Amino acid sequence: MFSLLLAAPVLISASMAQAEGIWEFESQSLQVTMPKTLVLVEGAAGGGEQNLHNWKGTMDDFQLDMSLWIIPRQEWGMYDPFDVSANVAFNRRQQEQHKSFKFEEEYPVEGPFGTLPYGVIASWGEYDGTERISTQFILAGLTPERGYTFRLNCTPAPSEKARKSIEKFLQTGISFYGEVENVEWDEEEALARWERDRPLELAGKLKVLRTEHYIIFTDSSSGKLFAKEMEGCYSSIQETFPFPEVKGRKLMPVFLFRTREEYVDYYAKIAGISKESARNSKGHAWRDYYATYYDSPVDPVHIHEATHQIFSNRLRLSGGGSWFQEGVAELMSTSKNERKGFARNAARSENYTPFREFFVIPSLLGDQGRTKSGENRSTNNYAQAASIIDFARHSKFGKKKFPQFLEAVGKVHRGDVEAVEAAIQHVYDVDLIGFEAEWVKYWRE
Ligand SMILES: [Zn+2]
Repeated sequence: MFSLLLAAPVLISASMAQAEGIWEFESQSLQVTMPKTLVLVEGAAGGGEQNLHNWKGTMDDFQLDMSLWIIPRQEWGMYDPFDVSANVAFNRRQQEQHKSFKFEEEYPVEGPFGTLPYGVIASWGEYDGTERISTQFILAGLTPERGYTFRLNCTPAPSEKARKSIEKFLQTGISFYGEVENVEWDEEEALARWERDRPLELAGKLKVLRTEHYIIFTDSSSGKLFAKEMEGCYSSIQETFPFPEVKGRKLMPVFLFRTREEYVDYYAKIAGISKESARNSKGHAWRDYYATYYDSPVDPVHIHEATHQIFSNRLRLSGGGSWFQEGVAELMSTSKNERKGFARNAARSENYTPFREFFVIPSLLGDQGRTKSGENRSTNNYAQAASIIDFARHSKFGKKKFPQFLEAVGKVHRGDVEAVEAAIQHVYDVDLIGFEAEWVKYWRE
């Protein structure tokens, strides 16, 4: 066991100073202040490049094991504190026994947690068989070069009171004192992004417009009008799929080209695809950006793609499967009548893809070919996806728990239909067959 007398860390490295429960990690501009209610029993520098420090302590009847970890941002593509927590979940899913792993809770916290001024707190349970033995918490943030996690494991699983103290500690005990990024993008940063990604012949024609949520890179004279429409899309999407406004989130980049050919050049170059395939789309959301060309600002493609961009960069719900992602986007870009046109007929004549089969289609768009009755498969897929999300949001059966449905299914690893079924079972208390039957009932009428 640990000696209760050993209150100070054994080792103080050059990059770390310690006084009165405060640890400073100069290389990362991070400071950890332990709570007064914690009795520290052991602390030592971590072993290895990624593990900076470890602590053990007690708080009331709970044992706390804590550690501070860093990983390189560039190498892991981390641009947002949620990328750091996602990496923790990803690493766990690599272990066979945790392959359906997801956090029990994950939420953003505003404050001086890094070079972007917010962090993410996430938690999950550790089990021995069916017995819960502890609860793990992480606080994730970004420094200029690293993603960091402060990890805390509480044994046994904390009482409600202890949980509150732990979350309060995570929200106040870890702070970053280095330079904070400009969330509206510096001119230099914006220019560098444009220079990196623009089509070759567009040098020098750039205008940069900023709105409350977007930074728009354009060579079109209609940028202002378009920017206003994008903000309109943002509001409608947020109203349908609520998510909090977190101060300190970077403006989301949008590339608006004057002509279709410029757009095709951009898309082919950045995605490494042929111009022919690029020409099949009118706009696309990928990674952090949305790219399109100026045609009509009210074209439904904009709100469809804006939904993809928000699900990936704001709601952080990129899972569930192609049916889920296209379903939420189509709910925004189609009318009720369009959805009804497909779904009523599908439900009455049983002319649709059974959900168990539908939920594992890797790409609704890529599912080419014809149905038995000669219809285009991918068109029907989109309509079916939209009608499922519509049903969950508007039916008497689905609407009360719609937010929980989004959260649970959107975090499931794509293609894992068992996990989707478990999520639906958890939220709506029916299996996949039962869910499908409720969908048929809703549209048949
Ligand atoms: Zn789409």
